[in-house]
Formats: sequence, C-alpha cells, structure tokens
Amino acid sequence: MKIRTGNGYDVHALAEGLPLYLGGVRIESNIGCVAHSDGDVAIHALCDALLGALAMGDIGQHFPDTSEEFRGIDSKILLSKTMDMVSGAGYVVGNADITIALQRPKLAPYILAMRGVLAGLMSVEVSDVSVKATTTEKLGFVGRSEGCEAYASVLLYEKNS
Ligand SMILES: [Zn+2]
Repeated sequence: MKIRTGNGYDVHALAEGLPLYLGGVRIESNIGCVAHSDGDVAIHALCDALLGALAMGDIGQHFPDTSEEFRGIDSKILLSKTMDMVSGAGYVVGNADITIALQRPKLAPYILAMRGVLAGLMSVEVSDVSVKATTTEKLGFVGRSEGCEAYASVLLYEKNS
C-alpha cells in the first residue's frame, strides 16, 4: 500500500476587533487573524500538510493572497478544494494531527467542534482528526498575543489499496 505523509505550518498576526476562525469554527474572541482569507491558521496548515504529502506545492501557490477570488474566503472552501486535489491524485486521508498555538482565548471548548468540521471536509471519522491547542507560556509573539500559529501532519494512503 502506498502511503505519503506531509506537514504544514502557518502563522497569522492577531488584531483587535477581527473575527477569529480556527479549524472551521468561529471562536468567541476580541482578537482575530489579520489575513486575505478568513485567516483560519489551522486549516491553512492542514492544507499545506495535504499539499506537502502530494508534493504539490503550497496553499499560497494554489490560492494566492493577491487574488480577488480568495479575498475574505471561508477557509473551509480552500480545504475542500485541496481535498479535490487529494482525491484527484488518487489518495484518501488516513489521519490528521493539528497543533494550534494561541495565548488566548482558551480553545478547549471548541476542539470537538473543530474535529467534527475537519473530519467532514476530509471524509474521515472524527477519531481520525486530532486538534490540540497550546499556549506558549506567554513567550514570544504567540505569548504576547501578537500572532497565532498552527502545525499540521497528515497521512494519506492510496485509494483502493
Ligand atoms: Zn494562513
């Protein structure tokens, strides 16, 4: 059976008064990501991991932040377009593991909802999608709430194998 793994990383600046979307879920927060899209750093890292597994470049290449088409776009659409590339290449997702680094707000109440949304978009079970959240103990740009970052790993395997 042919399997492939990929990893992805993304970071966005945070600013007051912007909506915060993570893992396809709207988070109650007075700060949100500065971005061309909805700034969903978790989905962006996940898309990069999927594209990385296929050696098909990165999210910026497929969905450029200079394009009007992607201004303010719901990142769930980017993930579903990325999943079209995954299935087009003949692969399905085995599992995905995402870590979000954010100082505040606390993400624990939203984790299960994120896993559900992402599992649906990738056509896998909720148990195949892990979302973890961490602070950085007030260290660095994440700790100062200047930004938010996410890391993702995925495993793909060949359909019909
Ligand atoms: Zn991004």
